[in-house]
Amino acid sequence: MELIDDHLPALQRPWAVALQDKPHLLNQIHEAVNGPFHVIHPPTFSANLRSFVEVLNDEGVAGQIFFGKKANKAGSWLREVAQVGGGVDVASVPELAHTLANGVRGEDIEVTGAAKSDELLWLAGRHGSLVAIDSLDELTRALQVRDTVGPLRILLRILPKESPQSRFGLNPTDLNEALRWCECNPTDLSLCGFSFHLDGYEVAPRAALASHLIDRCLTVRERIPSCNAISIGGGFACQYVEREDWERFLRNSGPTSFHAERRFAKFYPYYQAPTGSEMLRAILRTPSGDSVLAQRLKRHEIKLYAEPGRALLDGAGFSVFPVQGFKRNADHGIVTVAGLSMSLSEQWKNSEFLPDPCLVQRDPRASSHPVRVAIGGSSCMEYDMLTWRKVRLPSQPQYGDYIIYPNTAGYQMDKNESEFHQLPLPPKVAIKQLSDTILWRIDDAH
Ligand SMILES: *Cc1c(COP(=O)(O)O)cnc(C)c1O
Repeated sequence: MELIDDHLPALQRPWAVALQDKPHLLNQIHEAVNGPFHVIHPPTFSANLRSFVEVLNDEGVAGQIFFGKKANKAGSWLREVAQVGGGVDVASVPELAHTLANGVRGEDIEVTGAAKSDELLWLAGRHGSLVAIDSLDELTRALQVRDTVGPLRILLRILPKESPQSRFGLNPTDLNEALRWCECNPTDLSLCGFSFHLDGYEVAPRAALASHLIDRCLTVRERIPSCNAISIGGGFACQYVEREDWERFLRNSGPTSFHAERRFAKFYPYYQAPTGSEMLRAILRTPSGDSVLAQRLKRHEIKLYAEPGRALLDGAGFSVFPVQGFKRNADHGIVTVAGLSMSLSEQWKNSEFLPDPCLVQRDPRASSHPVRVAIGGSSCMEYDMLTWRKVRLPSQPQYGDYIIYPNTAGYQMDKNESEFHQLPLPPKVAIKQLSDTILWRIDDAH
């Protein structure tokens, strides 16, 4: 067995470590669900959400944090949003309905997404939600289907000139036309401001675009007084592993690190800084005009909206796959687990979810021999691999043990899940801690 030093221990929150130390609890849940499952921790989500809200407060900026719902389908997060007083960013009728059903009020919902259906536009209007308009024809339809007491609250999503290839947002000509309509139809349309959502996880382009949109708000406000907010979208970075581990991995890993010498064009940056709400702080402290963004927003009474998805779910869940078999293959072992790699979405983006999985033994064994393993799902496809990388486990896994993937709540859990092979979707198990007692229940949504 080659000894490539490429391990990537996952950063985990204390609640997750404590739970993985309790095989009897995992056994109990496994007994009930009889297959793979996701464990989620709503209090961690609300702590993340509160940290974003605190940054706005610290920096003296008025605004709202909308949870990008597509990053995880569980209903448990929505209850936390309702309690903390945040908002939710949705892009479909079922997402909007699910959000309302969990107590988030319509006015705290932002509807984004390309070319929304008439039904979604109508429903958003009925509930007083904020609609990010993506095109002129969508604006026309929004006007036709609107059936609200007051005007429809909208943001105009801009096509950033730095990403002209994006399929989202209004180009400059259409943006001007949309502004003209808003000016001419103040009883039907209430222009609240502008929005964007950028790929990548950088501070600088977000700060630059935000600065530009402040200028725009100031100009437009002379004609349309309601124009007093900007939304800087999502893409707040997360850190999954320590910097030194990430750099060592990048240095040392090569094709032989992976089963079948699998090659990947690109990985998510599992180490990044700044992350989460600190990234929001860094954006707000970026120079803008004669001052910094936060100061200008405050001085001109412009609200700041953000739509973090992944960053609010950071540390708030892990995924559990029961071991179904082990065998040797060339220089490494192959573990097969109950479940499919679709429950680890990164594997379906021609990439790999890299933080090291952990082994939890159902019955801890006295003697143990470390092994290097790749981990496959229980389908009949060669490519159904949860981990192509030959990762080191402290002991040879046995039937009934668990392989745990840490920190999977953001996008990994349910983006691509299907009932392939007629296997049921893994349920999400929400954890509630009452001092020494741990309670759990199955979340209301898949
Ligand atoms: C996906 C999405 C988000 C959330 O992105 P994250 O990277 O999860 O923070 C926010 N806004 C829009 C418009 C999106 O499409």
